[in-house]
Amino acid sequence: MPDFSMELNEDQLQIQKWLHDFSENVVRPVAAEWDEREETPWPVIQEAAKIGLYSFDFIATAFADPTGLTLPIASEELCWGDAGIALSIMGSTLAVAGIASNGTPEQLMEWAPQCYGTPEDVKLGAFCVSEPDAGSDVSGLRTRAVYDEAKDEWVINGTKAWITNGGIANTHVVVASVDPELGSRGQASFVVPEGTPGISMGQKYKKMGIRASHTAEVVLDDCRVPGSCLLGGKEKLDARLAKVREGKKSAGQAAMATFEATRPAVGAQALGIARAAFEYSLDYAKERKAFGRAIIENQGVAFKLADMCSRIEASRLLVWRAAWMGRNGKTFEKGEGSMSKLYAGETAVWVTEQAIQIMGGYGYIREHPVERWHRDSKIYTIFEGTSEIQRLVIARAISGVHIK
Ligand SMILES: Cc1cc2nc3c(=O)[nH]c(=O)nc-3n(C[C@H](O)[C@H](O)[C@H](O)COP(=O)(O)OP(=O)(O)OC[C@H]3O[C@@H](n4cnc5c(N)ncnc54)[C@H](O)[C@@H]3O)c2cc1C
Repeated sequence: MPDFSMELNEDQLQIQKWLHDFSENVVRPVAAEWDEREETPWPVIQEAAKIGLYSFDFIATAFADPTGLTLPIASEELCWGDAGIALSIMGSTLAVAGIASNGTPEQLMEWAPQCYGTPEDVKLGAFCVSEPDAGSDVSGLRTRAVYDEAKDEWVINGTKAWITNGGIANTHVVVASVDPELGSRGQASFVVPEGTPGISMGQKYKKMGIRASHTAEVVLDDCRVPGSCLLGGKEKLDARLAKVREGKKSAGQAAMATFEATRPAVGAQALGIARAAFEYSLDYAKERKAFGRAIIENQGVAFKLADMCSRIEASRLLVWRAAWMGRNGKTFEKGEGSMSKLYAGETAVWVTEQAIQIMGGYGYIREHPVERWHRDSKIYTIFEGTSEIQRLVIARAISGVHIK
């Protein structure tokens, strides 16, 4: 057992620098342009694929790190560059997390690389849970998967809402109800492979922030997938459903298993935006003069920066701890995964707003990136579980009371 240490190891420091350089040299220079265009930044994804960053190999290396810190470190650095572009690069990872948390090792090896493709032929993945009438309340999913025994196929029907890479992805991972009476315990995850008829893109949303990341509806209309696309396999699903019907506890819900694993990395993304805004406004406060002195010489400004920095550092500690716990199979007894995402997400919104305030009029105009960072930060109190839902998870965990 090594002594306790808060220092990153050589591999982690190298990855951190690699990602930072990519963000600084490739992502930041084009961030404003892709935000304005509101389109998937294909050239940047291709560049990331060329250097091996956008690849299953990189994600597998990150998942394999026994400390669990590689993914949050990478996420923070990439979002320090730009969160919209980062989500275009990381979006496929959510689909892979969906496959990893519900599929067999063979299914992971078959489908996960297809979510990235190759540098010459880049592909995307999407993870489809939310629906127009079911976001936080995952038990209300209406998308239905029905088994056609004669053909050994699943027939999926429904509409998914707000899906990152939705409809433009090559591989969609879809959570659907196989037994609506059982609510979230009657759900399963399916891979819808590239070229499957019956899956299409609905409306593409125009958004407040993370505009370089594509978000759209996904429509499934008698979409048929082979039996082998059921993640985890039919035998396991039947056994799980039988247990639930007998009133016994069963291990996990399809969507929740994925979100628990990804929340610290999502918190780390928020952290990257917050750090970017903090650094930018700190530099500005040292340069900008008012009343004959740099504005940072006023406690009113300097204390803001002190609070911003403190909250960012606290967020990182929560994120790293949760990532380490998740990777090492520790039970989240106080909702530590949710806590990390809640705190980092709200910190990002708060810090970016303070950064605008410190920069005054310059903070509010598009000549500087802080207004974009503020717009980008807001999604972190909404997706992958709203702040209220994270508080619900934490409150239930610490109290043992089924708080509504
Ligand atoms: C840009 C973007 C990308 C997204 N990407 C994906 C994706 O790739 N895949 C995917 O599946 N989904 C994705 N989502 C969907 C996202 O996860 C949902 O929007 C989110 O879970 C909230 O669901 P909702 O919008 O239906 O809000 P609702 O669930 O309707 O919530 C509305 C409000 O009520 C509050 N609320 C609800 N229930 C409670 C409660 N019990 N107690 C207290 N407050 C409550 C919420 O906190 C919120 O403030 C994305 C969304 C966006 C905007």
